[in-house]
Amino acid sequence: MEKKCVICGKPIEDETQMVKCTVCGAVMHKSCSSDEALLDAEENNLCPYDAMLAALDWFDAVVSTYATTLTSEQKNDIVARLKSYIGLLEG
Ligand SMILES: [Zn+2]
Ligand SMILES: [Zn+2]
Repeated sequence: MEKKCVICGKPIEDETQMVKCTVCGAVMHKSCSSDEALLDAEENNLCPYDAMLAALDWFDAVVSTYATTLTSEQKNDIVARLKSYIGLLEG
C-alpha cells in the first residue's frame, strides 16, 4: 500500500526517509517533519494534529492554573491570539 505524507500529501517512496507520529502512527517525510515544532519534549516526532493537541494540553495546564494572575491587558492579548488561531482553523 502506498504511504502518503500527512504534511505534503505526496507518496513516501523511500522508507528510510519516513518518520512516524509517536501518538497516532501517521507517516511523514523526514524532510517535511524536521520543524522542531513537531517534536515533543522527548524529541519524538509528532504529526501536525498531535503537535497542536499537545500544545493545547500544555496551554490548558498553564491557563487553568494561572489565568487569574494575568492583568486584563494580558488577557486581551491572549484572547486576540486565540481568535487569530480560530480564524486560521476555520478559514
Ligand atoms: Zn512530505
Ligand atoms: Zn499523530
